[in-house]
This record gives sequence, C-alpha cells and structure tokens, in this order.
Amino acid sequence: MPQLFPDGAARGTAPAGHAVGGAYPIRRRTAKVLHLFTPSGVPMPEFVFPAPTPVAIPVAEGGAFPVRRVFCVGRNYAAHAREMGSDPDREPPFFFMKPADALVTGGADTPYPPATSDLHHEMELVVGIGEGGADIAEADALAHVWGYAAGLDLTRRDLQGQAKKEGKPWDMGKGFDHSGPIGLMVPVARIGHPAHGRIALKVNGKLRQSSDLANMIWSVPETVAYLSRLVRLAPGDLIFTGTPEGVAAVSRGDLLEGEVEGVGTIRTRVV
Ligand code: MN
Repeated sequence: MPQLFPDGAARGTAPAGHAVGGAYPIRRRTAKVLHLFTPSGVPMPEFVFPAPTPVAIPVAEGGAFPVRRVFCVGRNYAAHAREMGSDPDREPPFFFMKPADALVTGGADTPYPPATSDLHHEMELVVGIGEGGADIAEADALAHVWGYAAGLDLTRRDLQGQAKKEGKPWDMGKGFDHSGPIGLMVPVARIGHPAHGRIALKVNGKLRQSSDLANMIWSVPETVAYLSRLVRLAPGDLIFTGTPEGVAAVSRGDLLEGEVEGVGTIRTRVV
C-alpha cells in the first residue's frame, strides 16, 4: 500500500525478490501508476519528460548493439602523432570521450557541425565491449570484446588546436553532435580479433588515409586493459582506437568511405 510522505508524494515499496545491485531501475506496474525503483528499492519519481531513446548500432547479423559510453584513444599511430606535432615514443595511452548520441549509424548523412571551419576526418577501428570489468589483465582483455566496427572520429581541429594551446579540455573539439559516424557492429564470433589489416579512408573516391592495424602503438588488448584500470568497463562501451596519418579537412558535400579490412566499412556524406 503506498504511503503518503510529508511532501505529498505517494511512494510504493520495492517488489519482493527484486534483484539488488543491477544497473537499471526496476519497474512495477500497479493499477494506474508505473512505479520506478532504484536497484536498492528506493522509489524514484516518474520521469518529468520522456527518457531519451537508447543509442544502438545495427549488428551485421541482425539485432543491435546497445551503446553505453564512447571512449577514444589519442595518438595511437606513430605517423599520425608526428603529423600532429607529438613525439610518438610510446607515451602511455590517453583517452577522451564522445557522448553516445554523437554516433551516426545506418549510413546516414553527417551534418557539418557549427563553430568550425576545419572539420577533420579520422578513420578508426572501433572496439565494442560485451563483458565489463575493472583491472582486466592484458591476457584476458580480448574475452571482453563483443565485436568491432569501422568508425570516424570527426574532429573540429580548430577548436581542438585552440584547446591544446590553452591547456583546456578537448570536449568541444571532439564530442559534438554527429561526431561519430559508425558502420555495422560485427561480432567476434564471425571475424575473430583483427590485429593487422588495411585501414583506409577515401574522400570523394580519392585515398586520404591508408595504414595497417599492426601500426597501432597500443594494441586492442593493451588498450582495453589500460582503460579498465581507469574506469570499470561495462557492456556497450565503445573504444575508438585512434587514427593513422593523413587526416585532413572535409567540406559539405564530401562523401567519406572508410574500410577496415576484415571488419567492415563506414560510409557517410557530409551535408
Ligand atoms: Mn581519433
């Protein structure tokens, strides 16, 4: 029986036998009201507006990969680190993030973002985490990967450059709307773990970026293990693993077509 609290809100009680420690609210439908509970049984108020639709990436075989967080590795190919004016001498990997809803899926067009006149393409292999964990050992890391995709880490290079110069965060240079076009998620069950193979990007049919996954400074297992010592990884987390050399500006109307050998493709038009 709901009790009336001093603030006037009616609150239910947690359903018997509910799971404790899960990540999501527990729903219990009564005659007229949908009650939401936290995993520890504390009643939550109703959403004051509709909750956002979950972000998901279509899977090659059907179904969808639900996205939780999007991590990105900086400077993971020596030749790209050099072109950006850094020493690629195996400094520890560093990470930045994009919001999950910055992803562009299904080959949709990518709107040219505001506040930049230097939008750059960065073609990348994307790792999809299927099993979470913290302090993952390098030897166990690949068992946490569900699949891979080809993706683009679009970058407002002018804003990123300004932020670097001033020692400010990269967020607005990297994590803007539509900054992460991504192809189909392909399960490890089908393709295994690509450690080498061509990674390339064409713009309007002309080759702009071309390298090999073997040129990554930090391998996928090393990256997963390293990141899991900074945050507890969770199912649905993505890791953009860095771009090879050849990054350059794109304009409205440009067609971007990328490929990671053994994984798949990404195709989007900037509009
Ligand atoms: Mn990148």
